[in-house]
Amino acid sequence: MPSVEKASLSASPRPRFLRVPRIPSLQELHKLIRPILVMLPAMGLILGFGMGIVGGGQWAGTIWAAATVPVLSALLIEIVASLRRGDVGLDIVAALSMAGALVFGEHLAAVVVALMYAGGQYLESFAERRANREMTALLARVPGTALRHRDGRLEEVPLDAVVPEDRLLVRQGDVVPVDGFVAAGMAVLDQSALTGESVPAQKKAGEPVMSGVTNVGDAFDLSATHSAAESTYAGIVRLIEAAQASKAPMTRLADRFAMAFLALTVVLAGGAWLWSGDPIRALAVLVVATPCPLILAVPVAIVSGVSRAAKAGVLVKGGKAMETLARVKALVIDKTGTLTHGQARIVEIRPVVGLSPEGLLQLAASLEQASKHVIARALVSEAQAMALDLLPPIAVAEVPGEGLEGIVDGRRVVVGGVRFLSQRVPNAARAVADGHYPVGSVVVAVAVDGEPAGLLILADPLRSEAARVIDSLRRLGIARITLASGDRRDVAEAVTVGLHLDAVHAELTPDRKIAIVQEEKRHGPVMMVGDGVNDAPALAAADLGVALGAKGAAASAEAADIVLLVDRLDKIPVAVQAARRSRRIALQSVYAGIGLSVVGMVVAGLGYLTPVQGALIQEAIDVAVILNALRALWGPEPS
Ligand code: ADP
Ligand code: MG
Repeated sequence: MPSVEKASLSASPRPRFLRVPRIPSLQELHKLIRPILVMLPAMGLILGFGMGIVGGGQWAGTIWAAATVPVLSALLIEIVASLRRGDVGLDIVAALSMAGALVFGEHLAAVVVALMYAGGQYLESFAERRANREMTALLARVPGTALRHRDGRLEEVPLDAVVPEDRLLVRQGDVVPVDGFVAAGMAVLDQSALTGESVPAQKKAGEPVMSGVTNVGDAFDLSATHSAAESTYAGIVRLIEAAQASKAPMTRLADRFAMAFLALTVVLAGGAWLWSGDPIRALAVLVVATPCPLILAVPVAIVSGVSRAAKAGVLVKGGKAMETLARVKALVIDKTGTLTHGQARIVEIRPVVGLSPEGLLQLAASLEQASKHVIARALVSEAQAMALDLLPPIAVAEVPGEGLEGIVDGRRVVVGGVRFLSQRVPNAARAVADGHYPVGSVVVAVAVDGEPAGLLILADPLRSEAARVIDSLRRLGIARITLASGDRRDVAEAVTVGLHLDAVHAELTPDRKIAIVQEEKRHGPVMMVGDGVNDAPALAAADLGVALGAKGAAASAEAADIVLLVDRLDKIPVAVQAARRSRRIALQSVYAGIGLSVVGMVVAGLGYLTPVQGALIQEAIDVAVILNALRALWGPEPS
C-alpha cells in the first residue's frame, strides 16, 4: 500500500479538493526565498573581501550593504505582519542592529548579522522539514478501509479497492474516505478540517461530499465518485497541514524571556550610547544581542523533539503540544479501547426464550456494522468469525459511547449498554437489570421491536502494557492518574484492580468526562487519553488531548493534540520523555546563550568590542547554541 500512496504523491502534488486557487501565505513565501536570503549575504561577504584582494576595496562596503538590504527588507515585512497580529518578537533586535549598522556605515558588521540571521532561519526550517518528513512517512502507514455494499451485504475493503460508483456505508465518526455524494439518508458533516467552518453542514441525498470531512451525524450511504488514491493523500495532507498550522505559537517558551531580553538590550545599548556619547557602542551592543539564541534554540530543540516523537509513532501537532507534554501533571484515561484492547471476546450469549444465540448475535452485529465503537467492532468480528450472515442496517441513530438503534431486516433493533437500553425500551429494563454478570464483564443488551431480546456478555481485558505504562508515567512525574469511563462502575472497578490509580469515575456521559478533566486541572496541566467518538469533547477540553489513532475514531484524532499512530500505550511515556528532553535542551541553550550574550553586551557597552568583533563573537555563541539544540534530534533513544 505505501507504494501506491507514493505513486499518487508524485502523480498529483495536491489533492483535487485542496487545489483551490489561493494566495500563498507570507510564511510559504518565506520558505521559498529563505535559501536565497542565506546565499545573498554569503556571496556578498566573499565578493566584498575578494574586491579588497584585487584592489577594488572601495567597493567592498557597497557590496556588503547591498547584500544586507534584501535580508533586512524581508525581516521588516515579517515584523510588520507580526506586529499586526499583536506579537512583539526578538526579530526587532535583529532589524535594529542591521539597520543601525547600515546607517553608521558598519557594512561588514551588517552583512555578518544578515548572514547569521538568515542562516538561523534556514536551520529552523530545516528542522521543521525534518519533523514533517517523519510525520508524512508515519501517516502514510495508517491503514484505511471502507465499508462497501455488495450483493445486499456489507464488506470491509481496503481503501485502494474503492472505485467510482461503489456504494459505501460511512459510520458516525468516520472520515469520508473518497469524494462522492449522499446516496441515501441525511449526512451531518464536520468540514472544519477542510474549510475552517466550525458549524457542521447538513447534506441531503444527491448532494456532493468531499473526502476528508468527518461524519458527526448518523451513518449514511455514500456513492463514490472518485478512487481513493487521492483521498488517502488528501487525509495525510490535511492532518499535516493542521499540525503545521498549530505550530505557530512554537516560541511560547521563548516569549516569557523575549520581552525581558528585548528590554535589557535596549537599556544596555541606550546606556552605552548616553554614557560614551558614541552611537557605535550602542550598535556593538545590538550586534552582540543578534540574532539571539532565543530565536534559534527554542524552535530548533522543540521541532527536533517533534521529529523524535514521530519516529516512535507519535504525531505531535506542533510545538505548543510538545511543550505542554513536557509539563503534564495529571492524566485522565479512558477505559474501553484505551486501557483495554477493545478486542473483546464474547464469553456468553443469553437470548430470551424463543431466540437462538446465533439469531441474537446476528441481529445485534448487523446493526453494529454502523458503529465505530470498539465493542461494536468486536461484536461484528465475532459474528463474522462464526460465519453469520450480516444484513445492512438502515435508519441508524447512535448515541456515542452508549448504543444505537436502527432497522435490520424490517425489525427495529436497539443495542447498547444496560443503562441505554433501560432508557430506550422500558419493557426491557427489568429483564436487563435482573441479570447477574461475571465480575468485570462488558454487557451489551439487545431489544427487538420494543421487547428485550437478550444479553451479550464480553470479556475485554486490560492491555498487557497498561500497568507498566501507568507506573512509568508516575515515575515521569505525573502525580494524578484517574480513569474516566462510560462503562458500568463495577466493570471499571474490577478491570482496574491492581493499577495504581488515584480515582475511578464510571458511567460518564461525554459531558461528564469534560467535567472530570476540568476538575483535574487544579493539579496542573491535564493530559486526556482516549479513543472513542465520546472522548472527543474531553480530548479538546484537556490541556493536552492524546488520541489512539490507529484503531480509534477519526473524530477523536481530529480533536486531539497528539495522535498515537501505533496501537500501543507504551508510546505515551516515550513521547513524554522526548518532550521533557527537548524542553530541557531548549532551556539549557537559552540560559547558556543568553548568559554569554549578556556578558558580550556588557563588554561591548564598555567599548572593548567593535561591531564587527561583536558580530563574530555572537556568531560563535549562536553556532554553539544551535548545535546544542540539535541534540534533541540525534540524542539517545528514549526508553
Ligand atoms: P469507555 O468510556 O470506558 O471507553 P464507552 O463509554 O465507550 O466506554 O462504552 C461503555 C459501554 O457502553 C460499553 O462497555 C458498552 O456496554 C456500551 N456501548 C457503547 N456503545 C456501544 C455500542 N455501539 N454497542 C454496544 N455497546 C455499546
Ligand atoms: Mg473508549
